[in-house]
Amino acid sequence: MKPCIAIIGRPNVGKSTLFNRLVKKKKAIAADTPGVTRDRIFADASWDGREFLLVDTGGMVLDYDTGMQTDITRQSMLAVDEADAIIFLLDGKDGVTADDERLALYLRKSRKKVFWVVNKVESHRDQAASVDFYRLGMETLYEVSAAHGLGINDLLEAVTAVLPESEPEVAEAEGQPLRIAVIGKPNVGKSSLLNQLIGEKRLVTNDQPGTTMDSIEVPLDFHGRHYLFFDTAGLRRKARVHDQVESFATVATMRSVDYAQIVLLMIDATAGITDQDLKIASLAHEKGKVIIFLFNKIDLISGAEFNQKKMFDLLTDRFSFIYRPHAIRISVLKKQGINKIFPLIEALDHQLHKRITTGILNRTLKRITEEHQHPLIYRHPLKFYYITQLASIPPAFVVFCNTIKGIEPSYIRYLKKKLVDYLEFEGIPLRIYFRKR
Ligand code: GDP
Ligand code: GDP
Repeated sequence: MKPCIAIIGRPNVGKSTLFNRLVKKKKAIAADTPGVTRDRIFADASWDGREFLLVDTGGMVLDYDTGMQTDITRQSMLAVDEADAIIFLLDGKDGVTADDERLALYLRKSRKKVFWVVNKVESHRDQAASVDFYRLGMETLYEVSAAHGLGINDLLEAVTAVLPESEPEVAEAEGQPLRIAVIGKPNVGKSSLLNQLIGEKRLVTNDQPGTTMDSIEVPLDFHGRHYLFFDTAGLRRKARVHDQVESFATVATMRSVDYAQIVLLMIDATAGITDQDLKIASLAHEKGKVIIFLFNKIDLISGAEFNQKKMFDLLTDRFSFIYRPHAIRISVLKKQGINKIFPLIEALDHQLHKRITTGILNRTLKRITEEHQHPLIYRHPLKFYYITQLASIPPAFVVFCNTIKGIEPSYIRYLKKKLVDYLEFEGIPLRIYFRKR
């Protein structure tokens, strides 16, 4: 799993500006899922070949007087807990504030590797003023301008140097289990489902605070294939109940998603789809993960109220960025629909590993382009010479063409959809690369 860096700081110090600068290359992908990704807080980033997960924590203000913490603060604290390194961002134009002092105290107690960074340093005057921050008690201070890209390289060099080595991607070898993350809001039924699947009460679902779990990974076999289920976020939540974060968009969830090949996103059918579900689904989809939506607790609603058609209408409406999604209505309690899960996983496993011959691919591409042509680019037609599949998960394809400039995103979406239809990759997030030849 990738190491994680969290950006912490009070509102308006420039966290999202820094976040965007560090992930700038990824913006093109975000455009694929309009609306959902604007206020993103997680992104993959890399520097000098080191990959990491970056978290923007939102405004973090601790109110010690009332002892009250906003949701956003609890979210930030969780991020601090789970990060491998912290970028504590300060505002060079504002100088040291009382909130900075409180945060400094909190971060020092966290015993995490903290990088103290003064932002908005753009002039000699700013530099001279930033010395004042040393009274917060750090040894090294980094001065940057997120908006103008100053000092970023020095900072990244220092931060990435302390990150743990990310575990090498598990190569797809014979006998490797398929990794399946079970995610969803608290109380949607994740532990109950895992219990049901293993057929014994090993995980103990419990509404009592303080329930601890011995295992977060559940290995299971089906038709001779090994599967590894895990539910990091849900289990962690139970281990630390005073954190009771309503959100599940945590570092732990993102890491699970990262590690998984298939994601079971559980939704409480009685509660409906939340913005959290939307965000996580869009991030998982961008990461190339196959999502199976599990609408649980259908024993609590009438069949007519939430039938197959209504479920798919809802999915198409809310998760429009996923073409032909997979979903099952289940009741873990009444053991309904559970037996559909493994066959679907099996089918998707097959699709993920499927290799299409170049001959079939080229015939399919010809058919697709004949049905609908790309508009002229600077008065020249776009020509596809041939297409071939790369060995990767999720399936990826390279198309060699006469030009790669000016290929329209809408046409790329069209191509992907047609490849899904004609080559039977339902619900698989295909990747297409273009190369000039
Ligand atoms: P956040 O609330 O911590 O995420 O802060 P934002 O990234 O939204 O930035 C808050 C304000 O500070 C915005 O108006 C930014 O344009 C501005 N800002 C961010 N970084 C810099 C910087 O490096 N220099 C200057 N002068 N302004 C900055
Ligand atoms: P988790 O937080 O996502 O792991 O959720 P749990 O598995 O702990 O379940 C939360 C609560 O929902 C428990 O009280 C379960 O008994 C209940 N629950 C789980 N599945 C179902 C279901 O299919 N129907 C009903 N009515 N309740 C369920």
